[in-house]
Amino acid sequence: MSEEYQILLWSVGCRANQSDRQMMLHDLESMGFRAGTAKAEAEVYIIFSCCVTAAAERDSRKLARKALGFNPEAKVIIYGCMSDYLKSLNINPMNKIPDLPARLVGHTDRKRLLEDLKETLDRQSRHIRPVDAKPRTTLKVQTGCSRACAYCVVPAARGSCSSMNIDEVLESFKKAVDSGSREIVLTGVNLGDWGSDFKQRRNLYDLLTELEKAAVPEVRIRLSSIEPWALSFELVDLVLKGRGFCPHLHVPVQSADPALLDRMGRNTDLYKIKEVIDKAVSINPGFAFGMDLIAGLPTETQNAFENSLRFIEEVSPAYLHVFGYSKRPGTRAAGMDGQIERGIIKERVHELIKAGRKKTLEFVERNKESERDVLITGRKKSSYRGLTDNFLEVELTEVRNGDKKLEGERVTVKLENGMQNGRWIMGSILS
Ligand code: SF4
Repeated sequence: MSEEYQILLWSVGCRANQSDRQMMLHDLESMGFRAGTAKAEAEVYIIFSCCVTAAAERDSRKLARKALGFNPEAKVIIYGCMSDYLKSLNINPMNKIPDLPARLVGHTDRKRLLEDLKETLDRQSRHIRPVDAKPRTTLKVQTGCSRACAYCVVPAARGSCSSMNIDEVLESFKKAVDSGSREIVLTGVNLGDWGSDFKQRRNLYDLLTELEKAAVPEVRIRLSSIEPWALSFELVDLVLKGRGFCPHLHVPVQSADPALLDRMGRNTDLYKIKEVIDKAVSINPGFAFGMDLIAGLPTETQNAFENSLRFIEEVSPAYLHVFGYSKRPGTRAAGMDGQIERGIIKERVHELIKAGRKKTLEFVERNKESERDVLITGRKKSSYRGLTDNFLEVELTEVRNGDKKLEGERVTVKLENGMQNGRWIMGSILS
């Protein structure tokens, strides 16, 4: 085997998976492997898999097949959620997918996987590469979930809630700052439940208060996603008035029909969400609120669906992430009467996407002429691309810093015209 022995890590699904991938990438590089995320030929592929929908599971398998297309001799590992979920259903007791020569490795077997890989490495000559500084770092402070929403496989795939303690979070935060990150995205499988597993319960607000004290001006902090019950007036106050936080929150509301939410076991107070959002906008008119919605949950009537459409109008989100319900074996929702036909789910998905695009265009419009903090994330020919603090993607029309490399820098940008798809907005650098 050559010293170019390479491991590639690919991920599907949520930010928690991206964060897991980033951590493993870091571990592999410090063990001496040449590891990366490129779509290229390698000796080992680790797929950070997802199983929340049938489509996500298909995508995970597709990536495994793609890896074998690059190198039919490669070791392919399907890591994480999909493996744990299949094991929870007692599928593949031999830890193999029958139609795919890939090994299943669950989250709890991470250590063993690294040991196995280390053994391989000990048979190689070492090839150590420094870890590149990344302008955006995902910091996973919690994993698992102790809730039991009727449609969700996450507790089976990720286990119950397990939070990183405050000292560890602060240490990881400092490491990310020292490595040159300019935005740190706090993430978790159920971030809003951070601290609920401690003997002396803590909550996300406590954690954010500590992080605010550790915040430095060069680095901004973003929250990835919090469940509706974690959204509170005090949290919004801290995020919008405290030091260092991005004025952006994302909440997986999933439906705005109270009876349907009850049936799904989701303790959601829709009135409170609306009040909290109104307050946030009154504090900071540029505040971005994003929502997840699922179309076609079992028993979703036309009227229930229209409640979600109405809610979109009421809260005017900056963007929507829309999912079509997919039946996952082993969940309570899979056994419910009142399953919705595929065709109807598709139509509802389409309607929600349309409503979301309209709201995004309105949000872009509201932001025109405003000045925002932008993190430059990449270059496109002669211009740069970046992300505003309130989660708008921007393309910079006028770059006044000559040849100075701007990737990874934070600059103030005046936002100008929106582009066709509504997300991209043109802007020019002021400072
Ligand atoms: S809160 Fe509900 S939807 Fe979210 S991960 Fe937990 S069980 Fe799944």
